[in-house]
Amino acid sequence: MRKKLIFAALAVFAASLALLATGCLGAGTPVKTAAVKTPGEIAAQPDKPTAVPAGVPVLMYHSVGPERNNDAVISKERFAEHMAFLRQENFQPISLDELHAYLTEKKPLPLKPVVLTFDDGYPDTYEVVYPLLKQYGFKSTLFMITDQIGKRLTPEQLKEMKAGGMEIAPHTHTHRELTGLSPREQAEEIMKSKEILDRILGQDSRHFCYPNGSYNAETLRLLKEAGFKTAVTINPGWTKPGDNVLALNRVWMGNGVDLKHLRERLSRPDYPML
Ligand SMILES: [Zn+2]
Repeated sequence: MRKKLIFAALAVFAASLALLATGCLGAGTPVKTAAVKTPGEIAAQPDKPTAVPAGVPVLMYHSVGPERNNDAVISKERFAEHMAFLRQENFQPISLDELHAYLTEKKPLPLKPVVLTFDDGYPDTYEVVYPLLKQYGFKSTLFMITDQIGKRLTPEQLKEMKAGGMEIAPHTHTHRELTGLSPREQAEEIMKSKEILDRILGQDSRHFCYPNGSYNAETLRLLKEAGFKTAVTINPGWTKPGDNVLALNRVWMGNGVDLKHLRERLSRPDYPML
């Protein structure tokens, strides 16, 4: 009985340490965890430590290639540098389902969580991004414009990337700005892209990305009706519990984001804009 009580007390102690540690990411106030662990504490800890952080950055990449005059295109070298940095610093890329559970139920996440998103679906997403993410074992999400299937990427490439840990989610059919469309046209853009991906990949898509971050009340209504769990914008900032899950912020990633800026963007939600 007494042993059980001690064990329970240690478990509570370990849990509160985990909660304290969550302050590290958001507020930037490092909290030291206990230096010496008793056998009870060690037993009470899961294999991989988890926590409920103050916020999570969702990184937004587009194309990876040599184009210099478009900051939405990041060079292969800089992108490789970013991914190596995430690994060195022990960042843990999580899925959008994991992000959703954290945002809506404050479900714990691995320490140093980050979400990797890639918009539009370019040939380099398959040729450059996917092999590197697979090598690191990083989870990610590709938001695919479905009328580009068979042009920029083939159904076979999408299937292969999905099997390799990249979620493929709809980004409308033709990438028209939704706010300029009638409710019927908006519904077509959203549902056609969902249905095409669901058919090719044998899935039920639940995450969405607005072309150019543009949406209105009708868009939100349509996404809710179709059962989408999250949708991402291009508004800058981190995501946090209490955010509208159908209007999530993302952190811009381009050539201008060197390692100093990347570190900044991953360590504080109020990171300076470039
Ligand atoms: Zn796009």
